[in-house]
Amino acid sequence: MTTLAAEHGVGRSGIGEVLLPPGFNARAPQISIEHVPSCPVCRSASRTHFASGYDYELQTCRNEWNFWQCCECSAVWLDPRPAAAELAVIYPSTYYAYNRSNKTSLVARKGKELLDRIKFSGFLKQTRVPSSFLDIGCGDGRYLDLFARRGIPKDRIYGLDLSEEHVRQLRDRGYKVYQRRVEDCTDIPAASIDLATMFHVIEHVAEPARVVRRIAGWLSPGGALVVETPNLDSWDARLFKKGWWGGYHIPRHWTLFDANSLRCLFEECGLNVRYFAYQTGHASWMNSFHHAAKYNSRLPSPRLADWFELPKGLPMLIACTGFDILRRAFGARTSAILIVAQKPKP
Ligand SMILES: [Zn+2]
Repeated sequence: MTTLAAEHGVGRSGIGEVLLPPGFNARAPQISIEHVPSCPVCRSASRTHFASGYDYELQTCRNEWNFWQCCECSAVWLDPRPAAAELAVIYPSTYYAYNRSNKTSLVARKGKELLDRIKFSGFLKQTRVPSSFLDIGCGDGRYLDLFARRGIPKDRIYGLDLSEEHVRQLRDRGYKVYQRRVEDCTDIPAASIDLATMFHVIEHVAEPARVVRRIAGWLSPGGALVVETPNLDSWDARLFKKGWWGGYHIPRHWTLFDANSLRCLFEECGLNVRYFAYQTGHASWMNSFHHAAKYNSRLPSPRLADWFELPKGLPMLIACTGFDILRRAFGARTSAILIVAQKPKP
């Protein structure tokens, strides 16, 4: 592993001595790891080195991490990854708030709502009109509200989320929401869900095939699962491939996909792929530029990096989103990929 790190840029110098990127928290702990020798999608052990980097976003740990690409299905996975006992370190209590509304401005929130409306109207053309709905990682419940407004009774609207506060509030509002991971959830009846959505969750889980199989069991015959995840086959992923790419979200993203590996995953789990779409991913561009500006060893520029973080970075956020919308209009594969898959009818 020492040789590998040396081959791929910033890494170890001498025995046991780690050269952290400039400006990185020198007191961040070295955390324990577990090895993942085979592809989490197709189980192949044939792989090539893909990228390496650090926890550039939150600096929760000092480990250097490596991504590998499967030679069979093109999925990319983190090996080693943080041990299960370290999850509280890499997901600090501020993590969920960090990802949500209190850090974003009104303009950014309104823009996101508009993009969500376009996204939903796009994939809903590919599915039948649902009479039950499940959102995995439902947060404050904005998608649950969307389907309640469309007329689905609240006792047929389900959500899973890890935030105790969100779950309590949504249950008080009449939704069937549980504080569970997909893997541990036994509260959703088999074959009861017409439409399930899971946005930016699959890349975080340890066993993506187990998760998709479990959701497939909850779908009614002909029901659809819609998943969105960072797109490895995008310009930003290629431009920042070596390690700065925001989509890596090191070390919290454990499996990354392109259309090919997503198709492989869904078909292995018995679902029929109906449709792919490409979504804008402002966070991906913003984080990529931010990490490259702040942590590059030649000319680290923390002041420049500030322009790619909110609130200062709002003009760049609008520019990056506009650029992705324009590119998508011309058929480009943008920063996030969305897949719609259907459970076969008997
Ligand atoms: Zn594979």
